[in-house]
Amino acid sequence: MSFYLIYKQLKDVPIETYMQSVSEADVRVVLTKQELNQEDLLALLSPAAERILEEIAEQAHRLTVQHFGKTIQLFNPLYVSDYCVNHCTYCSFSVTNEFERKILTEEEIEVEAQTLRATGIEHVLLLTGESKQHTPVSYLKDCVKILRKYFSSIAIEVNPLDTEEYEELFAAGVDGVTVYQETYNEDIYKQYHVKGPKRNYLYRLDTPERACEAGMRSVNIGALLGLDDWRKEVFLMAMHAQYLQTTYLGTEISVSLPRIRPTIGDFIPTTAVYDRYLVQCMLALRLFLPRSGITLSTRESPELRDHLLPLGVTKMSAGASTEVGGYSQDDKGTNQFEISDERNVNEISEALIRKGYQPIYKDWVHL
Ligand code: SF4
Repeated sequence: MSFYLIYKQLKDVPIETYMQSVSEADVRVVLTKQELNQEDLLALLSPAAERILEEIAEQAHRLTVQHFGKTIQLFNPLYVSDYCVNHCTYCSFSVTNEFERKILTEEEIEVEAQTLRATGIEHVLLLTGESKQHTPVSYLKDCVKILRKYFSSIAIEVNPLDTEEYEELFAAGVDGVTVYQETYNEDIYKQYHVKGPKRNYLYRLDTPERACEAGMRSVNIGALLGLDDWRKEVFLMAMHAQYLQTTYLGTEISVSLPRIRPTIGDFIPTTAVYDRYLVQCMLALRLFLPRSGITLSTRESPELRDHLLPLGVTKMSAGASTEVGGYSQDDKGTNQFEISDERNVNEISEALIRKGYQPIYKDWVHL
């Protein structure tokens, strides 16, 4: 089975027409339901829902506290390589951008890990550009061997792998996989992914499923908001998450809402995803997937992150660097995108505590 079969049925659903027919009263009916279906999700993403966001936010807050309490898990990315063989039009690491590429040695990874760990962070997300040549599974395993000494949870955001490769990394100590589909729209996917193995839409779409099959504890998916109509993207991403959740009961499925940030190359997003739309996306996801984690990264401003906190967020990065060697090296790499919230781990922790939230540094130990 593959989500692709469901995608093919969903992609021709007249989403716009349906959404235009939704009234505020219809959305209020959705707010009374215990379990939501596909039409309910569309109602929450509709223009009518935009007009009663406050009411939806109350429900989202209630559900978030019910399932997660007032806790926020903190994690941070750690970039070990910016080599990439793909040309994605929206990313600084694209093979077409000329800059001095970096890949960390074992000694450099050790220092980088120590520096990040000293901030208090215990959950780490290991990132590379996508290049099997430069960062093969053997290199990733070497990285994990070092990171295991410092962190209780290690997730990866690297080039999509085969199931057996995920199994190998799981055995080495990786417990989570993050992979973004970027855009679910198969018709335009190749326009953004001009060159490289990432052009294979289906292989990427099936990646979360292969990670689940390999036994990963957590899998995080997302769409890069700004590449296509955000209502459709969030609808399809939520359906994808629901499919994974009901198929792989042993894996925790969470979602992210990354918006396009400035990069080298001056990519202009096709669709403007204003703050109020981002809020609507988060509320719809919280109501449709009440038990799913939702990540809000440092792509967003401190003010917006603080404002969105009670509405559904469960995971945040803090003091993040999107450069290779960004935590410890004087000679850092090029950043993948510009971050917006530059508060360090302590500052984020204090801001959370001031708002009555408990920052969680560790909820998992790999034995
Ligand atoms: S988005 Fe990923 S695959 Fe595409 S250029 Fe950037 S690092 Fe490479």
